[in-house]
Amino acid sequence: MSEEKTWVRAGEDFCTNCREVRPFYRKMEEETVEEEGEEPFTFLRTVTRCFVCDSEMETEGLVDLNTEEYLDARCEALGLIQRRDLCRLMELYEIGKAPLSLALGFGEITVTRWLTGCFPSKEYSDICKRALKDPSFMRKCLKENREKLTRVCFEKADRAAARLEKSASLSKELLAAVRETFRLMGEITPLALQKLLYFMQGLSYALLNAPFYPEDCEAWAHGPVVRPVYELLRDFCFDPTEDPRFSVLEGGEALAEDKQKILLLTLKGFGRYNPRVLELLTHRESPWRKAREGLLPGDPGYRYLRKEDIRECFLELNKQYDLSTPAGIRRYVEDALKDREGGI
Ligand SMILES: [Zn+2]
Repeated sequence: MSEEKTWVRAGEDFCTNCREVRPFYRKMEEETVEEEGEEPFTFLRTVTRCFVCDSEMETEGLVDLNTEEYLDARCEALGLIQRRDLCRLMELYEIGKAPLSLALGFGEITVTRWLTGCFPSKEYSDICKRALKDPSFMRKCLKENREKLTRVCFEKADRAAARLEKSASLSKELLAAVRETFRLMGEITPLALQKLLYFMQGLSYALLNAPFYPEDCEAWAHGPVVRPVYELLRDFCFDPTEDPRFSVLEGGEALAEDKQKILLLTLKGFGRYNPRVLELLTHRESPWRKAREGLLPGDPGYRYLRKEDIRECFLELNKQYDLSTPAGIRRYVEDALKDREGGI
């Protein structure tokens, strides 16, 4: 009986046994494969069966689907780059299949062949994996093979790589903060992320008496902004973990334990509020106000918030509210909101 529950009703197609269009059911089965000279691996095979006569059906797209599953699983088992990562690589550097092959020093149709089912060698696969994580390496490859590419193509890819290169030069703490925030918060807007990064810095000064990350925040009209993070994420997908550029954030070092605690506290304490509420808080606090002296609300402003001001401000708030727990943070936020209501 429990077997039946794993079947999912999936659609209608022609059943060669019934000689009629029939509804069919779909099921995923783990299949273990042993290719000669390779370790066995498993992949998920999709099976469809006729709802009426229960014979196996070959529904539209099924063969392709299973072939892709099989190829991906085998690539993974062999430690080779997967096709979806090749696609990310092309998106990441805004480059097509043929020029990507040339830029990495391969033959022109190499990547195209991999995408249609051939397997890369370990050596070539490693070059692709490195290019995916390391924009400086990609720039080096582009330069070396420049004469094989059109000028437009080279410039476009090099610009994309240069932008990523700058972002990849973020401190490891900041990279980890961004990566972990996305991992733990799921979908989050760039605006909300910037606020959380600022409060992370503040809580770190308050509780560890040291900055979370060495980068400075600029006093933009809508609150503090760490510019290199802004530039990296400027036009990310709504779910950044789905964005090819996220690979630059992955694979960095883990945070030290005390910083990881600050990060979790920030997300628990401040992460529950709407970014507009967080913006309101930053506008009340002295570091942002000081950095915007002489500017009107809404004026662009790119002066840095002084680290010393952030430190003083949060040490003081910590004395008043005890920011070491989410409850203390909540008291602070609620007081700030009350003040605002009273002030209007
Ligand atoms: Zn049938």
